[in-house]
Amino acid sequence: MSPRMPRLPVFALLALALAGWSCAAEAPAAKVSPASGPRLEQITVRDADGLRTIAGEVLVEAVDGGVLLKRADERYDLVQPTAIVAREPLAGELGADTPRELGQRIIAELPPGFDVHITKHYVVCFNTSRDYAKWCAALFERLHDAFGNFWRKAGLEVVDPAQPLVVVIFADRAAYEAHAAGDLGAAADRVVGYYNLLSNRVTTFDLTGTDGLPRPGGSPLGGAAAQVMASPAAAGLVSTLVHEATHQMAFNCGMHRRLAPVPLWLSEGIATYFETPELDSDRGWRGIGAINRPRLDHFLATHRPGDIAAILASDDRFRSPDAPLDAYAVAWSLTRHLVATRKRAFVDYVRLQAAKQPLADDSPEERLRDFERAFGVSPTEIEADVVKAMARLASRPAR
Ligand SMILES: [Zn+2]
Repeated sequence: MSPRMPRLPVFALLALALAGWSCAAEAPAAKVSPASGPRLEQITVRDADGLRTIAGEVLVEAVDGGVLLKRADERYDLVQPTAIVAREPLAGELGADTPRELGQRIIAELPPGFDVHITKHYVVCFNTSRDYAKWCAALFERLHDAFGNFWRKAGLEVVDPAQPLVVVIFADRAAYEAHAAGDLGAAADRVVGYYNLLSNRVTTFDLTGTDGLPRPGGSPLGGAAAQVMASPAAAGLVSTLVHEATHQMAFNCGMHRRLAPVPLWLSEGIATYFETPELDSDRGWRGIGAINRPRLDHFLATHRPGDIAAILASDDRFRSPDAPLDAYAVAWSLTRHLVATRKRAFVDYVRLQAAKQPLADDSPEERLRDFERAFGVSPTEIEADVVKAMARLASRPAR
């Protein structure tokens, strides 16, 4: 096993077809070992931002001296060994901000003009209309509850996130892209929303606007949910928000562990399982597990023998610039089939993945072995079942 630093830690959606894509930016390998028990430290760091002090829980300590630190607000810092000036143990507990304080701290980091909308589980920072922010927050709250209920009912131990979940919504695409470039690099102009594993935030922009055009008088929403759902952007809007919010939920409720080697087919399969919009309702999204027509059609049009074995063994196809959408369609189809036919084994498999350590790495052989042990079938056997099941689904009306 050779642990390594993570790829660029984002779960992002391509604007082109509103499907996920994670950027690949391989960082240098570092040997890591899990820290033993919670350990609080204050670390003085000197890097491109200058000299600063950060405090948090040491999650992983690399043998080269690098540290993965979790702050009180759930942000992670990957502190490079060369940046560390001093380390001191901290006694007591890390004091967390109130949601209001957290919101104010985040908007202080954003361009001027942002405001905060707070709900039971979310802190939404926005500079588009408050109505749009409120509509999004209501969608996130419905997802939060439905997600927890669905997995609890399936037998998975999910917990409420320890801290409010943060979502940042820019009014216009240009300002969003300028901000997102720091996280996504050159891909920012293709990505309409993303979840960042380090900041733990979802960032997006007001997708109901006309891209790049000034909007005198503010957002064209005018406050009516019906207008949101009537806009041509509605389907992509709902899928994007729910997809990224699903990643954020999964990484904050104990289902996935951030920076652990969660196979992308699993995290993207779950996000695509939840993302299907309900466009005949002002609320935009109601339930879980509906037939995801774009993914199903894509799977049936592009599937080739061996696709399932490929995504089980490695994440490469999701990162391929050629046809990442194919991998998402395979992930949705496989997840849909496993949840429908082997829910208990699926939950066991999720639990197995949740136990893996941050910054650990799994070989293709380990990934295939985990799958075969959990589900009792080979990739070839499950592929034949999935292809048949998807053909049957295609002949059924969407529910
Ligand atoms: Zn995704």
